[in-house]
Amino acid sequence: MQDQGKQREYFDAAKETMAYAERGRQQEARLRHIVAHAYAKALTFREKCQLAGVDPEMVRTLSDLERIPMTRKDDLLELHKQRPFGGLLGVPPQKLKRAFISPGPIYDPEGEEEDYWRWAGPLCAAGFREGDVALNSVSYHLTPLGWMFDEGLRALGCTVLPGGTGNTEQQVKLAVYAGATAYVGTPSFLMMLLEKAEELGFELGKDLRLRCALVAGEMLPESLRHRIQEKAGATIRQAYGTADLGAVAYECREGRGMHIADDVVVEIVDPSTGKQVGPGESGEIVVTSFDETYCLIRFGTGDLSYMTNEPCPCGRTSPRLVRIVGRIGDAVKVRGMFVHPREIDNVISRYPQVAAYQIVVTRPGVRDEMLLRVELQSQANEQTVENKESLRRELREKMGEALKLKIDNLEFVAPATLAEGAKKVLDERKWD
Ligand SMILES: [Zn+2]
Repeated sequence: MQDQGKQREYFDAAKETMAYAERGRQQEARLRHIVAHAYAKALTFREKCQLAGVDPEMVRTLSDLERIPMTRKDDLLELHKQRPFGGLLGVPPQKLKRAFISPGPIYDPEGEEEDYWRWAGPLCAAGFREGDVALNSVSYHLTPLGWMFDEGLRALGCTVLPGGTGNTEQQVKLAVYAGATAYVGTPSFLMMLLEKAEELGFELGKDLRLRCALVAGEMLPESLRHRIQEKAGATIRQAYGTADLGAVAYECREGRGMHIADDVVVEIVDPSTGKQVGPGESGEIVVTSFDETYCLIRFGTGDLSYMTNEPCPCGRTSPRLVRIVGRIGDAVKVRGMFVHPREIDNVISRYPQVAAYQIVVTRPGVRDEMLLRVELQSQANEQTVENKESLRRELREKMGEALKLKIDNLEFVAPATLAEGAKKVLDERKWD
């Protein structure tokens, strides 16, 4: 039962404020159900369990989950090559509402339920209410993010301005004209919008009156949160989710840690063993979704965090991820997108004249920047300036297409500058 009325504090009070013991009981019942469902319907999951000698009957409690091997993002890449949707669909493909493609490529299905990715709850916790006019500044095509938020906003009764990415000036004009009161997107793009609004002569707080914002896809250091809050005059709350799973965790009005969403189970595990660690200990965020459409059981996100069970003054009883600590492995998140060394290799392998490369990610202001450093084979290094310029243009373009991210700068470095075994993606960003 969802709460009615404009001033509601929770989207679904019964679920969100459920007593601790009852929450545990319900989660385990739902866990047993989803494991049995996935085993029956999703071939890849069944094979995985059989290989590990796990029968669905053996998974009764949250700690029993450890018996099931994790599925990581890299595993998904392989699985999606082998079978439609990785062999993880729990419904016939004809039942999907939409399907998307994320870098990898990984194909993301959308089930037919209203607000399939369950963003209405997190948006409500961030202060969004029926009647709000929300600018949704994430991509609406190919990748699922735009629709994820759109569906949540609609379920909540908000008017949506489908801004998408880029077109900053148009987005500002639409937001002002339509009287936007709320924003969804990355924090860095919100900052750009505010700056653009001022540049166009609009007065913040008067012409553009944002009340709240839900930001995701990037780290949100407290210093940046304060700067944006001050400039926009709006409350900024953050959430954590993935294109594969939808909403996973979200901040409430307290803004101290992110409550685990009610329709997923989150474990914090030692990435090397897959075993659960205790509250307060950091490890990889592993998510099991109760979604019957796309059976992701023990999905290893590659993000590191730690959890607390301490009661929250907001009244929600789910545990909280205190903060996202960073990433394990080589994939690095830039402007909300994962940059995989493998994808870069795919592009570089078409250019035999390139001996080595490195992407350096920095953050001079509020925006991530990518520098591609390229070391040429010694003969190629003798090329004319003109040839180098055309190679520079082509590499930036091809790499930008493959990563779905702009390469801000490309620098040719002298032979033997990049040491063998050097990191292919070097993350030099500092967070507070
Ligand atoms: Zn709370």
